[in-house]
Amino acid sequence: MNGVVGELLTALALILLAGIVGWFVDGERGAMLTSVSALTVFFLRQLWLVLRLIHWAGAPLGTPTPSASGAWGTAFEALHRRARLASAESEQATQELARFRRAAEALPDGVMILDGYRTIEWMNLQAEVCLGLKASIDTGSRITHLLREPEFLAYLHDTDHRGIPFELRTQRNPGRVLQVQAAPFAAGRILLLVRDVTQLQKLATMRRDFVANVSHELKTPLTVTLGFIETAQDALPDAPPAEIARYLDTAGEQARRMQQLIEDLLTLSALETNAPPPLEDRVGVTALLEDILQEIRSLSGGRHRIALESTGPAWLLGGVRELRSAFANLAGNAVRYSPDGGDITVGWCVDGRGGGARFWVRDSGIGIAGEHLPRLTERFYRVDRGRSREAGGTGLGLAIVKHVLERHQASLLIESTPGRGSTFSAVFPEHRVQS
Ligand code: ADP
Repeated sequence: MNGVVGELLTALALILLAGIVGWFVDGERGAMLTSVSALTVFFLRQLWLVLRLIHWAGAPLGTPTPSASGAWGTAFEALHRRARLASAESEQATQELARFRRAAEALPDGVMILDGYRTIEWMNLQAEVCLGLKASIDTGSRITHLLREPEFLAYLHDTDHRGIPFELRTQRNPGRVLQVQAAPFAAGRILLLVRDVTQLQKLATMRRDFVANVSHELKTPLTVTLGFIETAQDALPDAPPAEIARYLDTAGEQARRMQQLIEDLLTLSALETNAPPPLEDRVGVTALLEDILQEIRSLSGGRHRIALESTGPAWLLGGVRELRSAFANLAGNAVRYSPDGGDITVGWCVDGRGGGARFWVRDSGIGIAGEHLPRLTERFYRVDRGRSREAGGTGLGLAIVKHVLERHQASLLIESTPGRGSTFSAVFPEHRVQS
């Protein structure tokens, strides 16, 4: 305010001075002429400064304010300060928005914001992946035009869905199960959370199947055992002891089968819950292979030709009990799935590809058709259920092998030709072997 009064007083003083000078030069006429000229100069200066202000206001944000003296200088400085403040505030808002976006991008779940008309305002990368959308193309489109599954449309239409998740299977991401949760917020907007639950669903199904399988596997031998015990009890008074002994033998055999199944289940559960075997434990391979060979020779009872080819490193680093169980399972299968007179070779050698080592078992047995190979390590998966039972199998052997190998960072390779035989190899990485 002071600046404005000062500016006016200065202008008046200058006009007065110009008038006095004019009066001295040319009397009354001169005074009038110089005063009007001074007034005109004053107005022209104001006009020029207004024009500079208008020009500055139209320039991009951040353009420095024009400089001037007096009241205009004060006004320009005040404007400059305001502009700086506004640009700092907008910079801060931009940074906060960028930070929020980065945080939303880092979320493991999909997040989408819909306006009151269900138009996509924003989505993170995870939402794009889950829903098969593209933010650069689909932002601004109505979600109801992009995801047309009727159940989803009904879910979105229903305003009472607060907190209740919905399971969505969409053509845009076939084969995946998505859990969608809509949360209404300000001005009819909806925050849509999307999570891929395919794996969780698979796990739940596997767990259910596993319990059903175990129950089924135990039920059969238990029924047989009970049947034979009851028959033996009924026959006891007058049946010859040899017959009773036969009944009890069969019951015993079924009980052993159940025992083996429970042992395998406990082994699997320990493999799943215990810590992985330490690298410091050294397992002498020669002694381990001798043990395995002795075991399968006794299992074969002289019905097969069994050989050993061991040229690999002296030590394996890992858990001896686990490794013995895995190797014995592979070698035992070779005996159980090879007809009498078959050839079985157990081998240990350097792995040509990676600098690690390979344990392998080759048999000349029944072999396995290609379509079964990917599923062999599933629990209770058998190519021929009857044959496996006959051979005393539980259907868990290769599942145990797979777990043991995974815990040693090793992989299982299976090559097989039906009617000609199979080779099962466990390939260990370099850091698990020592010469
Ligand atoms: P099982 O107790 O039934 O032997 P495994 O998990 O050890 O269970 O093996 C799964 C299935 O893989 C077996 O039932 C059998 O059909 C097949 N299999 C495993 N090893 C061999 C082999 N050496 N030759 C032929 N088939 C095999």
